Amino acid sequence: MQTLVGIYFLGESVGLDCGTEMGDNGGMSLVTDVFACPVCQHDAQACCTHPEGVLMRCPSCTHCFTDPRTVAAESYSKEYFRETHKNWFANPNLELFGEIAKIAVSKGGGLKVLDVGCGMGDFLLYLRGKEPTFVLTGIDLAAPPSVDGIRFITGDFYKTDLGSGFDFVVSLAVIEHVGDIRSFVSRIKALAKPGATVVLMTLNEGGLIYSVSKWMNVVGFDSVLNRLYSKHHLHHFTTASLRCLVESAGMEVLSQGTHNFPLAAVDFAECGFVADRLKSVGVALLFALGRIWKGAFLQTVVCKV
Ligand SMILES: [Zn+2]
Repeated sequence: MQTLVGIYFLGESVGLDCGTEMGDNGGMSLVTDVFACPVCQHDAQACCTHPEGVLMRCPSCTHCFTDPRTVAAESYSKEYFRETHKNWFANPNLELFGEIAKIAVSKGGGLKVLDVGCGMGDFLLYLRGKEPTFVLTGIDLAAPPSVDGIRFITGDFYKTDLGSGFDFVVSLAVIEHVGDIRSFVSRIKALAKPGATVVLMTLNEGGLIYSVSKWMNVVGFDSVLNRLYSKHHLHHFTTASLRCLVESAGMEVLSQGTHNFPLAAVDFAECGFVADRLKSVGVALLFALGRIWKGAFLQTVVCKV
């Protein structure tokens, strides 16, 4: 992963063109509708229908999102972590954890840290190993583990009393699942004290894999595009739209960069030995190319409150 501090990649939108259809896919059709962009409130326009919902794009901030009127909310149970996305949670992104931990440790001991959507608590467990004096809190809808020295809370992030005055707030691979992202970021800011650090990691729609999925779709292979834009991820941030969101919440961007995650963490749908190996090689190639051209699959932004 590139070092987060001091890096900013201009947000390039290689988005789904409004007014174009996504190919022959069981009745996909052009939808002419508008909805307020969840990032900047500008009128976003329906660009196409996906088998699971209508995709919208904001012409102002470049954000792409699934129209919330067209999809049902996803549920997050223990099965979500243990079965549906078992590879993701079994192979945490230690390289990213290390970069974030470096920033936290540089702030000094005793830091009050909150992990929003902490999952099974992997990042907080990692952080405790790096700096035992940190005061660690994690919250998630599904029950995180019970661990001495870490306060894990099961509950609704918006309604649970978490206290306030956090020095360091992280939320990794969560915001793309959240309906009201402006309220989400506002809540994070309200829980943090002035001068605190906020770290958000999410998808990078400007990255090479997204581009390749659109090129493949043009020539009739829609499976990658359908997977990337499934309702599992309600938001597909470009670097520009993520920056727009945090700045509109009154936070200052300190650094922003794109990066991948461990290949072992990819949760492929199993299609047989040969097909699975080909997919692994393809993703590995795209991960490598994405680091030098168009950007990697994920992005992380570091902000000051
Ligand atoms: Zn927008």
